[in-house]
Amino acid sequence: MAKHSKRREYARVRADSGQHRRILAVMAVLAVAAFIPVALRLYDLMICNYDKYAQLALRNQTRTTAVTADRGTIYDRNMNILAASVSVENIYLDPHELKQSKADIPAISQKLGELLALEPDVIAEKAKDLTKRYQLVADRVDEQTASKIRAYINENGISGIHLEPNSQRNYPYGTLASQVIGFTNASNTGSEGIEAAYNSYLEGSAGKVITTKGNNEMDMPYSYEKFVQSQPGNDIILTLDATVQAFLEKQMQTAIDRYDVQNGAFGIVMNVKTGEILAMATLGGYDPNQYLEIADEGTARELEQLKSEGNEVYQKALGEARLKQWRNRCLSDGYEPGSTFKVLTMAAALDSGAITLDTSFHCSGSEQIPGRAQRLHCWRSTGHGAQKTPQALQNSCNIAFAHIALKLGGERFYDYIQRFGVTEKTGIDLYGESKGVFFDKELVVNTDKWGTASLTSGSFGQTFKLTPIQLVRAIASVVNGGYLLEPYIVSEVVDADGNTVLKQEPTVIRQVISQETSKTMCSLLASVVTEGTAKNASVAGYSIGGKTGTSEKIDIFDENGQRVLDKIVSFVGVAPMDDPEYIVLVALDTPSRQTGIYISGGVMAAPTVGAVMADILPYLGVEQTFSEEDAAGQTVIVDDLTGMTAVEAEKLLKEKKLTARAVGTGETVTGQIPAPGQTVSGNSQVLIYLGEQPPADSVAVPDFIGMNRQQAADAAAQLGLYILVAGNTDLSPNVTVTAQSISPGDTVDIGTTIRLEFADTKAAD
Ligand SMILES: [Zn+2]
Repeated sequence: MAKHSKRREYARVRADSGQHRRILAVMAVLAVAAFIPVALRLYDLMICNYDKYAQLALRNQTRTTAVTADRGTIYDRNMNILAASVSVENIYLDPHELKQSKADIPAISQKLGELLALEPDVIAEKAKDLTKRYQLVADRVDEQTASKIRAYINENGISGIHLEPNSQRNYPYGTLASQVIGFTNASNTGSEGIEAAYNSYLEGSAGKVITTKGNNEMDMPYSYEKFVQSQPGNDIILTLDATVQAFLEKQMQTAIDRYDVQNGAFGIVMNVKTGEILAMATLGGYDPNQYLEIADEGTARELEQLKSEGNEVYQKALGEARLKQWRNRCLSDGYEPGSTFKVLTMAAALDSGAITLDTSFHCSGSEQIPGRAQRLHCWRSTGHGAQKTPQALQNSCNIAFAHIALKLGGERFYDYIQRFGVTEKTGIDLYGESKGVFFDKELVVNTDKWGTASLTSGSFGQTFKLTPIQLVRAIASVVNGGYLLEPYIVSEVVDADGNTVLKQEPTVIRQVISQETSKTMCSLLASVVTEGTAKNASVAGYSIGGKTGTSEKIDIFDENGQRVLDKIVSFVGVAPMDDPEYIVLVALDTPSRQTGIYISGGVMAAPTVGAVMADILPYLGVEQTFSEEDAAGQTVIVDDLTGMTAVEAEKLLKEKKLTARAVGTGETVTGQIPAPGQTVSGNSQVLIYLGEQPPADSVAVPDFIGMNRQQAADAAAQLGLYILVAGNTDLSPNVTVTAQSISPGDTVDIGTTIRLEFADTKAAD
């Protein structure tokens, strides 16, 4: 509802501004009319005193100044402004006019220098340079400064300082979704992202001011002017949700900091039923308000050092750094998907009947696969033993997947891969999409000639590349009933009067797998989070499914030609699994080996996606459901119990999945720990004080890192503190605290809640 009324409000504002423009147009006509007598006088002077003025007329030619059109605004799906144009002005000098009017150039340069924060000497130089009649002093000056300059011109009757309208693009959210939105260059043309892809819709058509200059003895600086009205550009409404985008970027940044990720991260949130992109992020990004500046501090420092090596080296490196920070990796760059790709292989094998849920596999850690020159090793060197199809996916077992690929065969494997869209662009409406690099069909299909290396490695996502958006839409089709969609990010283009110019609807390209296979895959993906390598992605109250991935960057070599085994860890999550709506991919490029944390998708990317889900699912209105056993993962806000009888208080607490312990012998509650309004985990014990006041002691927060759930609960209870369990709620002793909301040693009141993030620090793949 809120969204619709906002939309109507928007239409009304646009209609008003349309009316406003018509008034302006009328005023422009009147302004031209006001100049007609002057034009007639000019005519008289020019025609009747031709000889006298002929010389001057040569210099005073007609000049046309372009007036920028109002570039359209870019909104997110809730009509938050992501990009808008504001009016600014350019300040330029006409040195001939200044000379003829015997203007005081030192005084003018001094004053303009002061108002524009520029060196007066530089301005004076331009004022004396008679080679051009247009000497730009400052561009895109704000309206306030421009009016001060206008006042100065009027007060001192100066001829030769001019102001011309221009516009400045403003991005209120700064770095948020910068590579998706893009920016406009110095001539107001869209570069990168939506600004580039939808430039023809956004830009409108420029107007003109045609000016004929009079001579300097006349009172009026302008003798004749003609205005051509500019046409404003269209507005664009995205499917992107700025809040979801902010949640995604926040959790990605947390992961980058926590795992000391060396080469940034990329992530996508998409609606699996429609293909709408809700968020798309590449970190580190840049601020489109200052797109030429290098936002990454480390890179900026390296560039500073390069300055000493000469301008050419510096400029080249600067150019490369800019292109890198502007690049939308979610659709421009391929990467090796690793085990996340097993989702597609398994869907194909089940759908084609090559395997069933009951097919058995055996993993002894390594195996000589027919047709592969090298012995194949599973990521778990001790092996996974006997497995059926669900365990093969839960364990992310490479040996099992090699056998699945052999059962499927090259022909069917390639056919499904192709239909999952791996060999084609997704067609997303953004600038710069590439399509990754998959094997030639021959290599996969003709195993008699080429062996089975490409087929088997391909089945577990190695030795080829695809783009993040290709993977996301393919996996979306696995969980949405089998439908491959065309992802999109612009939902609507609206003209200046509020009329719809373009409306995009969900587009199904083809059905890849059956509804039945899709349903089976949903339950298998859910089991990877409940039983398999992705327990760290679990979120209390939600059914999450997904697949981990850890891959080596296949084409990075050091200076000695040795392959550098940098890793990309990733997780693709889907929720809610009973009827999937959203898919979230996060990939972290090159976590540092220095942190001592085990580098894997399960340890690093799964909890990151879990945290994104925990943020976005309640925001997007997906309902939480809690079973009795996961009450501890549920968060409860403690009520104010003051004045209640002990029985009333205990009853209320029980309803809220909390327990009570009474202190004192009074009739009614006189105090409580935790204080009203505080958030605690379900099953927490609340102390109710009857006729007594709770102690006002404070305690030092312990170091919870590395404790398992029982240890953390005990440590907190001993000090009268409360914990809030986030992340992996599994009670296994391998699941330990990886982060705490209040630092160890900080002093807090008794009854304070500390949020603890739990993860399995050994989870692999
Ligand atoms: Zn295995």
